[in-house]
Amino acid sequence: MAYSIAIDGPAGAGKSTIAKLLAEKLGYIYVDTGAMYRAMAVYFSQNHVNPEDEREINAAVINVDITIEYMDGAQQVILNGDNVTKLLRTEETGKMASKTSKYGAVRSKLVDLQRKLAKTTDVIMDGRDIGTTVLPDAFAKIYLTASSDARAQRRYDELVAKGQECDYQVIKEDIESRDYEDMHREISPLKQAEDAVLVDTSDMNIEQVVSAIEKIIEEKKAVL
Ligand code: C5P
Repeated sequence: MAYSIAIDGPAGAGKSTIAKLLAEKLGYIYVDTGAMYRAMAVYFSQNHVNPEDEREINAAVINVDITIEYMDGAQQVILNGDNVTKLLRTEETGKMASKTSKYGAVRSKLVDLQRKLAKTTDVIMDGRDIGTTVLPDAFAKIYLTASSDARAQRRYDELVAKGQECDYQVIKEDIESRDYEDMHREISPLKQAEDAVLVDTSDMNIEQVVSAIEKIIEEKKAVL
């Protein structure tokens, strides 16, 4: 049986950083599900699909084929035969992903792919609905969160370190509006699964978060 660990939470809580580190330590495969919604968004943008029109979205989804490969341990997202990994992390793509992830056709296609990946391999999967919908029987479930101030500050520091000009208030508003969309959609809204452990990272550094989650996993294994 493959073990799976689900990490859910809002944008900017540090899910991918933490999940990557844990996957390396535990020898699991890291699956970044946000990247799949982002790849779908790249297709919609490239093909001028109106994100407000569900019929257009449904028609477009039929033409999308997304697969996952690993290159030196790093997840690569292949969209209709092209590796689009480098196009995924822009603000524009994030916004498009957030607007279009509410549609049933988009979600069911990607949830199928995610479940297939978890069937055969030990995975640490991060996203919004992993513990609640994709892998309800995951071995351990973590709900990773932080205050919107802490998340905005981290994002601001990241952008400043890259030499990009940015405005703290705009970043914070973007984070809060993304939270709102993700938490209020009809299908699989972002919420803590009943059996997930809440980890608030507002006042924790990366090492502290990793060791807190390792402890949660060890405790789970101890009662097996
Ligand atoms: O985590 P990331 O910022 O890459 O996700 C982009 C968007 O994809 C999120 O704002 C959310 O709307 C959507 N998403 C989702 N379910 C997931 C992962 C991401 O709806 N499991």
